[in-house]
Amino acid sequence: MTTTTRITPAQTGISMTPVVPTMSALRPSGVDEVHITEGFWAERQRVNGAATLPHVEHWLEREGWLGNFDLAVAGSLPEGRRGREFSDSEVYKYLEALAWEIGRLGGDDALDARFRAVVARVAAAQEADGYLNTRFGRAGQGPRWSDLEWGHELYCLGHLFRAAVARERTNPGAGDGLLAVATRAADLICEVFGVDGIQSVCGHAEVEVGLAELARVTGESRYLELASLFIERRGTGVLADIEWGRGYFQDDVPIRDAEALRGHAVRANYLAAGAVDIAVEHGDSTLLDALRGQWDRTIARRTYITGGQGSHHQDEAFGEDFELPSDRAYSETCAGIASIMFSWRLLLEDRDVRYADHIERVLYNVVATSPSADGEAFFYANTLHQRTPGESSPDDEVSPRASSSERAPWFDVACCPPNVARTLASLASLVATTDDVGVQIHQFATATIDVTVGGGASADGGGRFLAEMTTDYPRSGLVTIRVLGAPTGPSTLSIRVPSWADDARLGVRTSAGEQVEERAVEPGYADVVQAFTAGDVVELSFGVRPRITSPDPRIDAIRGSVAIERGPEVFCVESVDLPGGTETLGRIEIATGVVPVETEDGRLSIELRARSMAGGTWPYREVFDAAVDGETFTTTIAPYHSWAERGPSTMRVWIPTARV
Ligand SMILES: [Zn+2]
Repeated sequence: MTTTTRITPAQTGISMTPVVPTMSALRPSGVDEVHITEGFWAERQRVNGAATLPHVEHWLEREGWLGNFDLAVAGSLPEGRRGREFSDSEVYKYLEALAWEIGRLGGDDALDARFRAVVARVAAAQEADGYLNTRFGRAGQGPRWSDLEWGHELYCLGHLFRAAVARERTNPGAGDGLLAVATRAADLICEVFGVDGIQSVCGHAEVEVGLAELARVTGESRYLELASLFIERRGTGVLADIEWGRGYFQDDVPIRDAEALRGHAVRANYLAAGAVDIAVEHGDSTLLDALRGQWDRTIARRTYITGGQGSHHQDEAFGEDFELPSDRAYSETCAGIASIMFSWRLLLEDRDVRYADHIERVLYNVVATSPSADGEAFFYANTLHQRTPGESSPDDEVSPRASSSERAPWFDVACCPPNVARTLASLASLVATTDDVGVQIHQFATATIDVTVGGGASADGGGRFLAEMTTDYPRSGLVTIRVLGAPTGPSTLSIRVPSWADDARLGVRTSAGEQVEERAVEPGYADVVQAFTAGDVVELSFGVRPRITSPDPRIDAIRGSVAIERGPEVFCVESVDLPGGTETLGRIEIATGVVPVETEDGRLSIELRARSMAGGTWPYREVFDAAVDGETFTTTIAPYHSWAERGPSTMRVWIPTARV
């Protein structure tokens, strides 16, 4: 799968992007190179910057998770400490989100001041030898590294490293000291957990992706080697057995031998992402093949139609193959984000469109679902079938529950809100990549693109490729790319054609409007190879007609049901749109041959039937004992990501088909 054409970022300078492999098939673009300017994602990025980032800082302050760092300095830990053992990590994720946001905006004095103020409080709490954690190591607290199963010390440092990487890539030499804080901590754990150190791992993977990227930024190979040690040690029973088994933290089977992701869904994906980093840096094709196989099997058997992962509530974990019940879908927002991290690293290595298709599915149906339209409340779990309307979460209270029928402003375990924030702030990185010969478009958004093709930009900027992408996707499947500048000589513009795309066609026009090419294209990457000049227009068009989707019959929980999708969006039926509301939602079914119809507001109109209930005291009956009847009605359905924006409601993605 690995192509022979590989380039190094060192040849093209620092890239303002979360993942920069030393060598890869595709070079990721930075948040300074691609700017999403209008449309679906631009609006979410705007809300993220204007509302979510201040919201996250407000809650970090209010819950005392930022204050824990001040208490460490004042000597008031542990008595004053608040929050769970991993609360430091939310501060680091917030810093990472801020760094990408500042980079995305091309600098912002107010945000920069907020960033520096938080860093100063974090840095002050670091101990002389580099140790940094507010939960362990002081009188009255557990000793350092004394609870690797649940303590999250290394996990927190992993997020610290990601924040430092984001800052260094978006503002090198900022002088705030965050990179030095990170490297001091990394140096310490190289000693403590190195070859001759503690022979164990953290119960929650994350430090691996953090160390790998810190190594890429600093050139310090010890960080990479420590990440590699962590990857190889896990799976050999180095952590204690727990009630859910060692599979919960992937310590049951070495990663090279595993067949699918298993256990805690966020842990599993973070680990797999870190393992791709190591495999790529080491040129370890055996490990990469194992990870590709795990990705394939996990997508084919353990992933919801939304792209969400994890069907067990009690341990936030993957179920068995095809154990994907809608009403028990956990599908944690962070698991979706983690799945994007795993998929993105494989995409950079393999240039396989399936990874980009999956990333899109997760973006539209998990990442976009979590935050409310105002950016100040979030889903933690993302069920596919809500049976009871529940109650609204008050704006000013922490939700103790991960799963609820409404978005909540904050949680006792608040991993998801800052994870959404950093993902949206760095989202433009997922749009386009480059390689030796051209530019690849993976995600569609109205955006400006200013990237460098090939390994070496000439002094006159000869490798520069400038373009404007325009689209109202996902409402339509028309994507127009107007070239504003291109390298001399031929280059290749590759555009993803989604797997479900209908009747996809690619056209090329000159600046004079002359059509030079027009052809049908198949799902995958459609290539245009030519010497581009300013004014050339490449247009990809495909149908985003509503489609009825049925599941693999082995997913027993939804056998006999169908879902409705349009383009990348999964739709759902919500009680607030139904005559009879929640009572009706439980009885709906869809007849064979029913076709959803587009409405002017971007939703769909569909004919459903509310099946009559058998009634009585026993909820089962003999088959074929009575004619099926019920009322037929037409209702409106909306994209799943927009559900629960109209007060408490019930909802379902999968609709039973009409039969006895
Ligand atoms: Zn989460």
